[in-house]
Amino acid sequence: MNSIEEQMATVVNLCKRRGFVFQSADIYGGFRSAYDFGPVGVLMLRNVKQAWWHSMVQLREDVVGLDAAILSPPAVWEASGHLRSFSDPLVDCRKCKTRHREDHLKDPNRCPSCGTAGELTEAREFNLMFKTYAGPVAEDGAEVYLRPETAQGMFMNYNLVMGAARKRPPFGIAQIGKSFRNEITPGNFIFRTREFEQMEMEYFVPPDEATKWYEYWLQERLDWYKDLGIPSEMLRLRAHEADELSHYSSQTADVEFLYPWGWGELEGIANRGDYDLTAHAAHSGARLEYQGEDVSYVPHVIEPAAGATRAMLAFLLAAYDEEEVRGEKRTVLRLDPRLAPYQVAVLPLSRKEPLTSTAREVATSLRPYFMVDYDETQSIGRRYRRQDELGTPFCVTVDFETADDNSVTVRERDEMSQKRIPIPEVCDFLRSCM
Ligand code: ATP
Repeated sequence: MNSIEEQMATVVNLCKRRGFVFQSADIYGGFRSAYDFGPVGVLMLRNVKQAWWHSMVQLREDVVGLDAAILSPPAVWEASGHLRSFSDPLVDCRKCKTRHREDHLKDPNRCPSCGTAGELTEAREFNLMFKTYAGPVAEDGAEVYLRPETAQGMFMNYNLVMGAARKRPPFGIAQIGKSFRNEITPGNFIFRTREFEQMEMEYFVPPDEATKWYEYWLQERLDWYKDLGIPSEMLRLRAHEADELSHYSSQTADVEFLYPWGWGELEGIANRGDYDLTAHAAHSGARLEYQGEDVSYVPHVIEPAAGATRAMLAFLLAAYDEEEVRGEKRTVLRLDPRLAPYQVAVLPLSRKEPLTSTAREVATSLRPYFMVDYDETQSIGRRYRRQDELGTPFCVTVDFETADDNSVTVRERDEMSQKRIPIPEVCDFLRSCM
């Protein structure tokens, strides 16, 4: 088994080489807080978000969507409790001057960077929110914060959404978007960054149904990752201990993934009770409750909160595979077709006519239905290997017989099996395979 560093480096290198993920500001030496998603990374990240939206919004009659603002005034964060308690315990090493999160230290007395014992400072609480100023003057009263989670947008719009969408509890509001946290120690590639994307849903329920729905969402969210191809043995649910619970939560469990460095959070599912709506009602003066014909209550909230970029890392790590084929190493991303950047690659066997024209026609006919890559460079073997590394589930090859039999070869990624299919049937055939 390779070391943790080697396992991560293999995936990080593939991500850079093939255009999944680049370190941000690479030409300036790289900016450690953020990453850029390249031509295939942007496709895969969109697919992760689409798969979440499909399961959380499209397939459900009880959940609607929202896209709220990223900037908000201090009053919001005062009410939510983030100004007071959205912080991590920060310790400095007096010897090597590095900074660490105290709750992540293996030995609370020893610096994880230089190994010196007894040189860590007392922990101080460090607020993770990014602050900036609205308008031309950086003055008191103009402060605004970049949201550290998307959730508050759902609470603030609770009344407006409920009225406009004509919903009543139990119902949910879902949102995908960027969040920002001034993490003390970003790291492990896109696992922990200062700018990242979240997929969150706030599910409003009658108070006496909160535990039932909490358990329901735990299972739903675990199953979502399994359905998209992460093996069961790489996933687990872990309930938070009482001293781990956030300021708002009475029950929380994490969906954890087995990263190369061990089990870690993939998604948090929290029973937030009536904390948020009550706090925003008290601070804003708005009435945030449900008024039924003969009932009135402040709904309790179950929140499944996932990271889109972190989920993409988990899908990449779980899909990465190496095997030996005819004496050569083959690297393959065994991604679910719903997540793969391209579903189909169209490859003319040679760059000669009429192969390329036919291949282009086939690619054009498939594009409305699939994300298609067209590639006519290099030997066919190398092009298959490249598609394997991109996780493309099907390659369609136009060869010298195509002109005679009007058929193409469809090669499947995992088994590398090949099938001859008439061109007019290719699209339906591929759709039936995905
Ligand atoms: P951690 O304990 O890892 O700091 P958290 O418990 O603070 O995470 P939540 O507030 O529950 O995280 O956020 C929900 C989800 O958002 C996380 O499960 C994760 O997938 C994602 N997430 C949170 N912080 C980051 C980050 N800095 N970079 C990437 N994804 C993040």
